[in-house]
Amino acid sequence: MAFEIQSIMAREVLDSRGNPTIEVEVRTKQGISRAMVPSGASTGIHEAIELRDGGKRFLGKGVQKAVDNVNKIISNELKGRECTEQREIDMAMIEIDGTENKSRLGANAILGVSMAVCRASALELEIPLYERIAGLSGNKKLILPTPAMNVINGGVHAGNSLDIQEYMILPVGAESFSEGVRLCAEVYQTLKGIIRERYGKNAINVGDEGGFAPPLSHAEEPFELILKAVREVGYEHEIKLGIDAAASEFYSNTGYRIEGRELSGDELMEFYKDLIENYPIISVEDIYAQDDWYPWQNFTGIFGDRVEIVGDDLLVTNVKRIKKAIESKACNALLLKINQIGTITETIDAARLSRNNGWRVMVSHRSGETEDSFIADLSVGLGTGQIKSGGPCRSERNAKYNQLLRIEDELGENAKYQGMI
Ligand code: PEP
Ligand code: MG
Repeated sequence: MAFEIQSIMAREVLDSRGNPTIEVEVRTKQGISRAMVPSGASTGIHEAIELRDGGKRFLGKGVQKAVDNVNKIISNELKGRECTEQREIDMAMIEIDGTENKSRLGANAILGVSMAVCRASALELEIPLYERIAGLSGNKKLILPTPAMNVINGGVHAGNSLDIQEYMILPVGAESFSEGVRLCAEVYQTLKGIIRERYGKNAINVGDEGGFAPPLSHAEEPFELILKAVREVGYEHEIKLGIDAAASEFYSNTGYRIEGRELSGDELMEFYKDLIENYPIISVEDIYAQDDWYPWQNFTGIFGDRVEIVGDDLLVTNVKRIKKAIESKACNALLLKINQIGTITETIDAARLSRNNGWRVMVSHRSGETEDSFIADLSVGLGTGQIKSGGPCRSERNAKYNQLLRIEDELGENAKYQGMI
């Protein structure tokens, strides 16, 4: 038993929103490997289930049941197994859980163990985490991703009236990852000055993902502010734009409620068309609701050659939904979120299926995050070429960008940057 799991234990800790989340520690002969689980706000209804305690503690958001499930059930089952058997371990947890959506043990409990086991195997094999993930996925090309930095927040992530949840900048023309980070940081600080001057100092408070949340209500306004900042620092050629509409949040069975109007799928397409034609947008995410397949297909048929069309709530990192979207041509890129599906093995399978079908993949944080930078290594190891981890602000966001800067240094001359997606 060369790489034996000696013990597994979990505890309740706090995430970036001040809500409880689960931290897991896996002990092997080389030491302790730790992982923390993120949590969404604009959560898709098809996501794996995050187990919360209910009741009065933490206003119902405690995760003691998930902690108990690790300490009393999962740990007994996995103790003594080889931590290098990622797939077998993940499948064993899925089997013990026995539900379609991991609702018995909790996807948060299962994922915490899956991440910590993955880290433990890297530790035992004495290789970096990204290299371990590359090995698990069969990927041969380590790539530093293009960051998609969310600089203006709206939707359920901010206290303003913007319907679109995320306005992102992508430094596709940078020479390296570190240069991309610098360009974004310069735009971000310049944008802060512009917002302060125009809307006052209350407007430079940041939302959950580190972007500003100024008192805006029209979809075009953030683009104008961002482009003014981009022009001021002179990066019009290097920086392009992206959005996450998170449309499930403003959808009801009567249509899409946007800027006080109720739009049909076709009308919403006209709305997006204007944005795509007027601004340098290269990536759009969750432009329609999670089960409204027809307008997704329609949009992809028309704009699929021009922009990256990313499925988040639509796909929930689930191979069954990804297959359906590939077959029906509903989008052309996957947003990869580890806690939507709940194991590292299934995350890798989702990325591989997407890549094998010519899709792009963007690794993603959640709006509720922690200081764990696992997804930075994930993006390099899988060679996805893209990551979104919020604005260049708030350390739970920068933890991922900073880890990528370390990886860039470590790879030295071999550090390839994705750049144009
Ligand atoms: C998203 O919708 O892409 C996102 C990161 O937000 P959340 O974590 O709230 O789902
Ligand atoms: Mg999204």
